[in-house]
Amino acid sequence: MTLLVHDKSAFRNACEDARARGLRVGLVPTMGALHEGHLALTREAKARGATFRVATIFVNPSQFGPDEDFSRYPRTLEADIAKLRDEAVDLVFAPAPDAMYPEGFETHVEVEKATLPFEGAHRPGHFRGVTTVVAKLFNLTGPCVAVFGRKDYQQWRVIERMVRDLDMPIEVVGHPIVRETDGLALSSRNRYLSDDERTRALALSTGLRAAKTAYDMGERRRDHLEATAREIVAQAFDVIDYVSVAHAESLAPLAEGDVGDNVVMLAAAHLGKTRLIDNLAF
Ligand code: AMP
Repeated sequence: MTLLVHDKSAFRNACEDARARGLRVGLVPTMGALHEGHLALTREAKARGATFRVATIFVNPSQFGPDEDFSRYPRTLEADIAKLRDEAVDLVFAPAPDAMYPEGFETHVEVEKATLPFEGAHRPGHFRGVTTVVAKLFNLTGPCVAVFGRKDYQQWRVIERMVRDLDMPIEVVGHPIVRETDGLALSSRNRYLSDDERTRALALSTGLRAAKTAYDMGERRRDHLEATAREIVAQAFDVIDYVSVAHAESLAPLAEGDVGDNVVMLAAAHLGKTRLIDNLAF
């Protein structure tokens, strides 16, 4: 049975009760508008030994910038619950914004270096909102394991950093990106795309794959790898925020020249009003 709660203390009690029954709590935080990518995370939690699976659905206002899509972000709670019920997720927490950020709220969690480039550079305040809400969800849930998607690659690495630095007793898992058969990474934001934009959106994953092919054939020069992907993305997208190679764990910028062998290529670009991200580890 899947239980839906909106209330913070009811949620905390249900998680406490599960732990008292000796269950291993697994957490999957989401913003809803659920698709196969999210559902794969709930299955991963089970594969990691979670015997009580919790999903949270919260469109977190503090991680959206003033010009971003907070108000139009898709909210499909009923359909989301039905999908989680089909996956036999045990508990769903869907709090109201005031419950998470009551009057007088003034404490934040900030990860430093890992949040500076890429998403952090293009979305000021974004990661501060993410780490703060994830820390709150961790405290409310008390999970043994928490599953995130590598679709938000930098977010996954930032949360790993937070958990290590703050000694949170939680295993953080990064699940591989779930894609459409043509390669487009699943995203709640894909539903914003017109038919024409949906066709053009494919250039993001195609560009990354072209760079990986070059890498696999021996290309190690950073500027060449980035140019290979960028050229393909630029043909289809309106604005590119970044198409960059970084160290796969620290996300530290790479020195000029060769990229080495533990790298990821990250990309973010706009199609009309929609901003898409994707990445590929080499
Ligand atoms: P969101 O609801 O977009 O905040 O995403 C919630 C979680 O689902 C995050 O950890 C995302 O990285 C993950 N996620 C979203 N899309 C995908 C995907 N296509 N494949 C794997 N994980 C995903």
